[in-house]
Amino acid sequence: MCEDKVLSESEKLIFKAISENDATLLQALLSENINANIVDENSMTPLQHAAYKGNKEIVQNLLDQGADVNYSEHQHNYTALHFAGLSGKADVCYALLLSGAKTDVTNSVGRTASQMAAFVGHHDCVAIINNFIPKSDIEYYTTVQGSQTSPYLPIFLVESFHKFVMQINIHPAKVVLNVHNFVGLSDHLTEIKKVLELMSEKEMKRGSETNEVMSFKFHYLSYIIGEIIKIRQRQTSTKKDEKEDEKKLDITELFTRKLLKPGKDGQLEFMDRFLKECIREFPHRECTLFRQMVASLASTDPPPAFNVVNSAINGQRGFMDNISICNTCGEEKPAKKCSKCKAVEYCDRNCQRLHWHWHKKACSRLSQGIVENEPQIKPNVNELSTEIQNLLVNN
Ligand SMILES: [Zn+2]
Ligand SMILES: [Zn+2]
Repeated sequence: MCEDKVLSESEKLIFKAISENDATLLQALLSENINANIVDENSMTPLQHAAYKGNKEIVQNLLDQGADVNYSEHQHNYTALHFAGLSGKADVCYALLLSGAKTDVTNSVGRTASQMAAFVGHHDCVAIINNFIPKSDIEYYTTVQGSQTSPYLPIFLVESFHKFVMQINIHPAKVVLNVHNFVGLSDHLTEIKKVLELMSEKEMKRGSETNEVMSFKFHYLSYIIGEIIKIRQRQTSTKKDEKEDEKKLDITELFTRKLLKPGKDGQLEFMDRFLKECIREFPHRECTLFRQMVASLASTDPPPAFNVVNSAINGQRGFMDNISICNTCGEEKPAKKCSKCKAVEYCDRNCQRLHWHWHKKACSRLSQGIVENEPQIKPNVNELSTEIQNLLVNN
């Protein structure tokens, strides 16, 4: 326990400003050169209070002012990230992570921030924390290693690639969209695929810190990039007149059209096959995660492969049955509906455009009131055993 230290009046005001969400007052106080790492009677720092309050602006202010993101004298060993996880504010978690918050610190009952967030049902925070990768892990590949003559990754791709590897919605259509949305990625597919393979390998070689989930995620992303490369090669090598239709489409359209093609019983057959193949090609067959995914797919009533992959990477969500998702890319709470049938939802015009090839027939039937289920994948799954869920939380 730390000895009682009397706080000055301005120091007391700092805690007051935070509890009242008064960013302006806090800013004024901090400019008086007050140490941002003071503690109150419970040994909590201003940053920890702000994280628990879930106020992103104040948290950022304190970080900019030199607040120690991993400071922990709290009697139960909570860090600011533990408090942010409890607050349920994913953007606060993210700000702390970007400032170097450690994810593996446990509190006095042995729980990490991610586990605490899961415990209180803040799955957005769990996803942000579990998918976070320090930027330095990416920057590593922009420097020349060993006998290399040039680095694996051009330095200008760091920002885009960092965002790309941390994406939480891993629906393959979203991954393809992101390849084209994040600046520079689509011009460097081969380099990106190589780096993802190296990163996947590295995660399995961290000894006690081996992270099967991240290793699989990087493999998964590299597998999708590999498919985009193949489609691109096929497209450029296709002879004239052959598949003239396909030649007019861009890669995103071609690939999403395949992914979203509805099969006989409303299942997305191509996507299912593609993702099973991706699991099968994961080189680390001895690991628990791989064995669990395979067991899940081999069960008598197997879930769609996407659900298996998604819960392997993002963990179990639970109680999400009624959440709406984009029919193209699986993004949650999409903003738009098909104006004609109002039965399917999309993020935006682009997502609607990408699905229209398959939706147009169903749309007229749906708009005449004929009920029919559009094939769609719900991101929630309960298939995986408790064992694997624990494993996921632990990572
Ligand atoms: Zn979408
Ligand atoms: Zn429609």
